Amino acid sequence: MRLLLIGAPGAGKGTQAERLSARLGIAHISSGDLLRQHVRERTSLGQTIKSYVDNGDLVPDGVVMDMLRKPVLAAAKAGGYVLDGFPRTVEQAKASFPTAHALGVEVQAAVHLGVARQELVRRLLSRRRGSDDTAAVIENRLHVYREKTVPLLEYYAGREWMFTVDGAQPRDAVHEEIVARLQKLTVFAAWS
Ligand code: AMP
Repeated sequence: MRLLLIGAPGAGKGTQAERLSARLGIAHISSGDLLRQHVRERTSLGQTIKSYVDNGDLVPDGVVMDMLRKPVLAAAKAGGYVLDGFPRTVEQAKASFPTAHALGVEVQAAVHLGVARQELVRRLLSRRRGSDDTAAVIENRLHVYREKTVPLLEYYAGREWMFTVDGAQPRDAVHEEIVARLQKLTVFAAWS
């Protein structure tokens, strides 16, 4: 099972991806977590991308795609993945699809977690303790989402393997709704 989770910062992608990973026995691959790990460990990649991540700007496509290639291939071989945070733009979706398709590891379903802007801001401000995000960085992350990722939702709109779940519900309810919606998709008809 190869899934993609799309949502604004604060929409609960990480939480829901972890739950799906445990429930479905597939790997959770988070582009943001992997990038932050490089920054923390001060790898050469980490030094190149630190300012993008710190400011909430998108890291160049090639860097993210090179970083994800190995883990995605390994996870696909081992039973599947839930990809959290990639693709984040139409360009990334278009650039990665041919390679993924040729290798038979392309995504089979995309879940969009919809949460209203006001609630996103509330969540992001309340989880800020312990992270370096300033109000300006939060504002920029939401701006980048609107400018770059909302067009990706429009690009995927109408495909039968993409659906939106109300991400403002309690986390258990969000999880159960995602699972129920996945079970209805033809690609997963055999799965229960
Ligand atoms: P996230 O935890 O998914 O919000 O990602 C944290 C940060 O990592 C983002 O603000 C970007 O700087 C970077 N990032 C994560 N995924 C991508 C991606 N697919 N393309 C470009 N930058 C990304």
